[in-house]
Amino acid sequence: MIAFGQWLGVLGGGQLGRMFCMSAHSLGYRVCVLDPDPDSPAGAVAERHICAGYSDPDALAQLAALCRAVTTEFENVPARSLQTLERDCAVSPGARAVMVAQDRRDEKRFARDCGLEVAPYLTIEQDADLERAEASMLPAVLKAARLGYDGKSQVRIDGIDALRAAWRSLGQAPCVLEKWLPLACEVSVILCRGLDRHSVVFPVAENQHRGGILAATIVPARIDPALAQQACAAAGAMAERLDYTGVLCVEFFVLHDGRVLVNELAPRPHNSGHYTIDACTSSQFDQQARILARLPLGDTHQWAPAVMLNLLGDLWFEQGRPRAPRLDVVAAIPGVRLHLYGKREARPARKMGHVTILGTTLQEALARAGEVAAALGLEPPR
Ligand code: ADP
Ligand code: MG
Repeated sequence: MIAFGQWLGVLGGGQLGRMFCMSAHSLGYRVCVLDPDPDSPAGAVAERHICAGYSDPDALAQLAALCRAVTTEFENVPARSLQTLERDCAVSPGARAVMVAQDRRDEKRFARDCGLEVAPYLTIEQDADLERAEASMLPAVLKAARLGYDGKSQVRIDGIDALRAAWRSLGQAPCVLEKWLPLACEVSVILCRGLDRHSVVFPVAENQHRGGILAATIVPARIDPALAQQACAAAGAMAERLDYTGVLCVEFFVLHDGRVLVNELAPRPHNSGHYTIDACTSSQFDQQARILARLPLGDTHQWAPAVMLNLLGDLWFEQGRPRAPRLDVVAAIPGVRLHLYGKREARPARKMGHVTILGTTLQEALARAGEVAAALGLEPPR
């Protein structure tokens, strides 16, 4: 294990990096963040913030010299930067796993190679590919293969005629055209795998998205335990084939006929795992820090049913005018824990924080989540 007081590094200074810092601190480590934003949420809490681009060779050299191990908090760091760091220090997850998750084409191919099902899709890379799209694919969604998140760089398509314009609107970048499926629900699995390749999973989470952005997570997911088991096994198979180390999230679509399809991978802690901070013995960020520090994986037991609601920047506006959401009212509701990320500026669709709501039963947590939603003017979780 890495001695307490040593440095751990993280690429990316967003909220996931910030929560990683907090976990690493509680285990007695110091953290260095690499992020080009001088006001990054993680940079504000880390002992050290190298304010530079992710490909900056001097910055990478400094990070590798200081830190015993480095992780990433978002998948779009250049894979080459991870490879550079791998020469001098331990990097979890490794460059290869991050590369697969960076490109929807690779991700889907990889899931299929693992014997898992994905939504029917076509790869769109050149004009001629547009001709291969058939009416049976409709309705569909065109997604940029790279750099999309929170529903960004995605266009819904209801007619084949709309496809060409949609592709143009995404800059004719490589895309996947995916059949839009009627979903029974969405779930995610967060798996943690140590350097000894031993792994643990958190309870399966049920996710509700609005406008392509996660709005609410409910745990445990209200699905047949056999399906939950299947999702966990799928995540395990993917982690094994990637020789993964670190925290991995796999998002799934559950169809009405009971099929479980892989949607996408995140090679890092995930928004749908934030509930673990308040509901589990070890959070997903504790696990990330433990893996880097070569400590044993923590206990993933969930002590109380939980609902997580995201606080998006929209809450800071009313009809275009700035306002303060009633977080004071929310804070007084039993079972509630507030998490704000310290972002200076609220913008629509920007993740500003989240609320975890615990209950003795899931019903109680959901009822309290309803109160939280009402206080904030949010739609309650379903
Ligand atoms: P992102 O990387 O932005 O999270 P996703 O591919 O996960 O992109 O899409 C965001 C959300 O949009 C999904 O969680 C789901 O709610 C919805 N969605 C995406 N693709 C499909 C699809 N093929 N069928 C039904 N819903 C979809
Ligand atoms: Mg997603």
